[in-house]
Amino acid sequence: MKLFNTRSNQLETFVPLKENEVSLYLCGPTVYNHAHIGNARPIVIFDTLKKVFEALGYTVHYVSNFTDVDDRIIALAKEENKKETDITDFYIDAYNQIRTDLNADQPDSTPQVTQTIPEIIEFISELIKSEAAYEKDGNVYFRVDSVKDYGSLSHQVLEDLQVGARISENVDKENPLDFLLWKDTDDDGIKWQSPWGLGRPGWHTECVVMIHQEFKQHKIDIHGGGVDLRFPHHENEAAQNCALHNHDLANYWVHNAMINLDGVKMSKSLGNVHLAKDLIEVLGSNVVRWLLVSNHYRQLINITDETIEQSKTEINRIETALKQTHLQLDLNDAFNDGLNESMLEKFLEPMQDDLNTPNGVAVIFEEIKQLNQLLRQRDKDYDKISETYRTVLRMLEIMGIEFNFERLTSKQRDLYNQWNKAKSDKNFELADQLRAKLIELGIL
Ligand SMILES: [Zn+2]
Repeated sequence: MKLFNTRSNQLETFVPLKENEVSLYLCGPTVYNHAHIGNARPIVIFDTLKKVFEALGYTVHYVSNFTDVDDRIIALAKEENKKETDITDFYIDAYNQIRTDLNADQPDSTPQVTQTIPEIIEFISELIKSEAAYEKDGNVYFRVDSVKDYGSLSHQVLEDLQVGARISENVDKENPLDFLLWKDTDDDGIKWQSPWGLGRPGWHTECVVMIHQEFKQHKIDIHGGGVDLRFPHHENEAAQNCALHNHDLANYWVHNAMINLDGVKMSKSLGNVHLAKDLIEVLGSNVVRWLLVSNHYRQLINITDETIEQSKTEINRIETALKQTHLQLDLNDAFNDGLNESMLEKFLEPMQDDLNTPNGVAVIFEEIKQLNQLLRQRDKDYDKISETYRTVLRMLEIMGIEFNFERLTSKQRDLYNQWNKAKSDKNFELADQLRAKLIELGIL
């Protein structure tokens, strides 16, 4: 596997910390609203990456958090006269549903901030002890000067960052770039007792603490997220780990590009729909997943009527070919479990090349074409058809695309045979009626 590492700004060959294992952490959402289509992209990309690793024989330990403490959650709870947990529980369920609907595996663990507070307080105390953080009037700040290379993950020059930070300068900070680890608060939102008084943790600490907790180590293989998280969030995560442990938090920092939401607005057929759940409802799971996965993850996606139509057409082409194959295999009782390993290999090759899904898609279409040719032959090689069919399904499974074709009942089989007989008897009227019936049943 080769991955583009944001840290080094280049493609690198993946070397795991532990043989045949991958530790993968993905920053999850702040749960105060429904996921928009942009939030669904990392779900799909990192799930596909996980599935590729698994296909290559790795065991993947996948963790993604829920940020359930945030000023926006508190404000919404107040506005709707609800408990904060009512809001967060609701949106956590909604987010898990999106994962299910997009055929993404649920992470092995989904830690929440509200369940990690003692560990977060302990971690901040250690940062203070090692002089990487300081307290001022109940607030605790991270001392950016305590790490050598602050800004290096997001490839920014410290002086430029400082110019930007001075605009919103806070007199309590030693350096305008220092960031909040613990916030003193006296509002009526959720808060906890700490050595620095009542307050709430800042956003950048939770992921570091959760990684330590969940993986029982201070460095993981892959830290993922949208490119918008590179700075300040990931830079700040890495800085805290480096201050305490003197090394990076992850060996590979992998970032997916954004989705142009202006593009969504430009799509006439969707209007202003840009929530993942609404897109799934309108277009179906496979089309939405395909839209997200068939583009390379480091490229911006513009969602327009054309790109949506293209995804629909492609999924349709694949489904039609597979459905016809399934029917022929069913009618001839010709299913077997064999896979074409070299064909699968050919698909996994681009998928291992920095998750080059567009080239993976190209291999799928080559095989679909092959399948259509095999089906047109007079003397059909059903073993080969079955093997090709199963292999294409396996490729699609890795892409997160699933079809459920059911076997014919004996009644349906009779109907199909009657249709064939009517055709060979040249009874076209009956043949047309039977055909309509077969289409209605979803068999043709
Ligand atoms: Zn994070």
